[in-house]
Amino acid sequence: MNINQISKSSILLIYTGGTIGMKEDPVEHTLKPFDFSQILAEVPELGKFACKIDSYTFNPLIDSSDIEPSNWKNLVKVIDTNYEKYDGFVILHGTDTMAYTASALSFMIEGLTKPVILTGSQLPIGVPRTDGKENLISAVEIAASRQEDGTATVPEVCICFDNVLMRGNRATKFNADNFRAFISENLPLLAEAGINIKYNYAYIRRPQNPHLRPIFHYNLDTRVSILKIHPGITPQVVRDIVCGAGTRAVILETYGAGNAPSAEWFISLVRESAQSGKILLNVTQCMAGEVDMDIYATGKCLKEAGVINGYDSTTESALAKLFYLMGEFEENDKVRKYLDMDLRGEISK
Ligand code: ASP
Repeated sequence: MNINQISKSSILLIYTGGTIGMKEDPVEHTLKPFDFSQILAEVPELGKFACKIDSYTFNPLIDSSDIEPSNWKNLVKVIDTNYEKYDGFVILHGTDTMAYTASALSFMIEGLTKPVILTGSQLPIGVPRTDGKENLISAVEIAASRQEDGTATVPEVCICFDNVLMRGNRATKFNADNFRAFISENLPLLAEAGINIKYNYAYIRRPQNPHLRPIFHYNLDTRVSILKIHPGITPQVVRDIVCGAGTRAVILETYGAGNAPSAEWFISLVRESAQSGKILLNVTQCMAGEVDMDIYATGKCLKEAGVINGYDSTTESALAKLFYLMGEFEENDKVRKYLDMDLRGEISK
């Protein structure tokens, strides 16, 4: 770490809630949030950074299982309002929906020039063996890091967890117990923290103009449903999900390289949904790899029925991208067009 660079940095730490800031309620024996000053008191190491750290606390604090798109808008608003004042943003967030929030922020902020680093922990920051301290310290260091020309080292929305940095819209929570709670199987890590933080510069995205203010998008259309295909799925369940009146888009979580049952009833329901104008997007249930609907007959049927390719997108990212694009565009064809494009490094295309 270059102390001179850090000395010029100022960070806004946004505390939304999550295990990192919880302690046990002695009566109910469940974890509940405690306030931010108590978090800082647990991490005196932060005072050793020669960078200025201000904080913003959500009121009320939330377990991230309660996160809603309205919370994402609040988060974006805080970043928007404070954008010029800070060199980077660290968001303390529960792990359960961190990948959803990271994905949403990546789409809601277009042309990001500063780091937005989400972190949290598996164990509360006040308990021995907590992973919260290291996660927070690494996140702050990454958010404060700048290159020699003064631009941010990682001008992206990322998740920093257990000594690794992942692009936010590529990450998934895959382990409920382990300190390594997130993976990014379809994109290499953006950094690893050992004795030093080693950045994987080849994969870090940079804005075309690092001095332009980003565009902050607040419109989200959440009329999306997700169908996870499984053996034994019934026509009624599929109909309810893919043809539902309140649904504008459906994410099909398919097998392997994008395959689904070839039964006539299934394909005709998918066709009916597509013909009614709904947007149908194919992502794989697999943790790694991508959809290719030309490999198997079962995938080809979907393509011919009007399903579009989600490539190697995570489900979290596909959902956030749909919310964002449908909020931006009334015409479904425009949404389809942009779904097929790599907008924020979310798909390999
Ligand atoms: N339920 C918690 C949350 O997501 C879990 C965590 O933070 O790890 O807020």
